[in-house]
Amino acid sequence: MSQSLSTDILIVGGGIAGLWLNARLRKLGYATLLVESAGLGGGQSLKSQGIIHGGAKYALHGALTGASEAIADMPRRWREALAGGGELDLSGVRLLSDAHYLWSPGSLAGNLTSFFASKAVRGRVDQVKGEQLPPALQHPRFKGKVYRLAELVLDVPSLIARLAELADGSLLAGHAIAPLYEGSELAGLRVDGREIRARRIVLGAGAGNAGLLAGLGLKQPRQQLRPLHMVLVKGRGLKPLYAHCLGGGPKPRITVTSHPAADGQWVWYLGGDIAEADGVARDEAAQIAAAQEELRRLLPWIDLSDARWATLRVDRAEPAQSGLTRPDNAFLAEQGRLLVGWPTKLALAPDLADRVVASLERDGIAPGSHAPLPELPRPPLAQPVWEELLP
Ligand code: FAD
Repeated sequence: MSQSLSTDILIVGGGIAGLWLNARLRKLGYATLLVESAGLGGGQSLKSQGIIHGGAKYALHGALTGASEAIADMPRRWREALAGGGELDLSGVRLLSDAHYLWSPGSLAGNLTSFFASKAVRGRVDQVKGEQLPPALQHPRFKGKVYRLAELVLDVPSLIARLAELADGSLLAGHAIAPLYEGSELAGLRVDGREIRARRIVLGAGAGNAGLLAGLGLKQPRQQLRPLHMVLVKGRGLKPLYAHCLGGGPKPRITVTSHPAADGQWVWYLGGDIAEADGVARDEAAQIAAAQEELRRLLPWIDLSDARWATLRVDRAEPAQSGLTRPDNAFLAEQGRLLVGWPTKLALAPDLADRVVASLERDGIAPGSHAPLPELPRPPLAQPVWEELLP
């Protein structure tokens, strides 16, 4: 016999968007249920670099963009949550670095005048030297300039695990999802034969939103996928580094983050320009060769003799923009009981949750009373990508 459940808010997708929203709504007293079809965090979230941007990267263009404005408050909000006193209690989540760095290998400082004048970075960027340099840059041969940005870098696996803990019994492993109509109105979803009724249904399934929307017969909002070809390198000679390395252009030439592997070694995860258009066009061997050449040129003192290399192709899922440009902030569309969102960045998950909460408040949807949920099959936590590719 099919099980019938009811909740205030039914969320689809257990990445950062769904898990953060779920925890936030539960803290506000809402009954929630979150359906995940694979591993928690295993979409883009655990493949991200974990940088909680404050918008500095986007201010590199010189002009202050909408992205810089919307995102500027995120580091503060995340810091408060990590300290246990914010909108969510994320104490226990591992902070990998209290700062992200901007590193200019040559004498590019002249290009940076407008950058330093922009609102997103004003008063929040300090030049560092000597022992204050990130460990990987502390070498007599290092010649560039380094600036400390007031941004942080999180260990995403511990973040996903903490949000799964805050979800308590509200997670459901579910695969076959179909709309549940009452009359002509969407009343909820049918998940593996369970009928789940809800006052609002939020699709927060990353790249899965497109398929879910198609299953509901909807063409809007449209989704765009931005492909990336990331590089991972693991070796005993690596020391932690969290930095955007500047080239001549508006985007970082390479963005390095460092992640602790289960065997105690560091994995460098390389994104930025190297992972975009030209990088996407390269096959795996050519992409690894390009990354080796970049690191040899930029950091010749780093010992990579025992390093192991891998690449990862992954798409960023976002609402469609003209010309595959980056959206400026979290995106939420509403159609009756259905809400559809993409945070567009890990850092902006709180912004997406704000938009959902504002929509509920506007529509007078207060926490209701529901029968307690029965014990449900729980989705597993997904593995960090470096453990899968470089075990
Ligand atoms: P996802 O994390 O993709 O989660 C979606 C979930 O939905 C998945 O678990 C999936 O299994 C599930 N799902 C899909 N379809 C269904 C279905 N039909 N039914 C049930 N469940 C379903 N942002 C930053 O702020 N800082 C960074 O440093 C950063 N680095 C990045 C690096 C890379 C290489 C990439 C790709 C992205 C990066 N981002 C970064 C962006 C960030 O990762 C994403 O914006 C964010 O993780 C998206 O979260 P999400 O929950 O919407 O999607």
